[in-house]
Amino acid sequence: MDEAEKRDESVNKATIHTACECQSKLGADLDERRHVIRAWARDRHGGKELVAPAHSIGADKPHFEVAWSCPICTRNQLRSFSADALSFSAS
Ligand SMILES: [Zn+2]
Repeated sequence: MDEAEKRDESVNKATIHTACECQSKLGADLDERRHVIRAWARDRHGGKELVAPAHSIGADKPHFEVAWSCPICTRNQLRSFSADALSFSAS
C-alpha cells in the first residue's frame, strides 16, 4: 500500500510479453486504450532490464500490433495481440 504508487494512476494496465529474435524477452505495459505506457527488454541470461521503445498500431481495433525496437540487437519486432486476451488490473 504505497501511497505514491496509488496516486500514480487510477489507470488500469495490462502487461504483454513476447520474445525478440535475439531471444531477449520483450514486455510492455498497455493502458486501457492499448497505448504503450512503458516497454522493456531483458536479455536471455536474465540480465538487467533495458528500456525499449515501443508503440501500438491500430490500438482501437480488436486485433492490434505492438512494435518494439529491441535495445539489445536493434531489430524491430512487430507482434499481434488480441484485445480480448488482455487482462487489465488496477495499478
Ligand atoms: Zn533483440
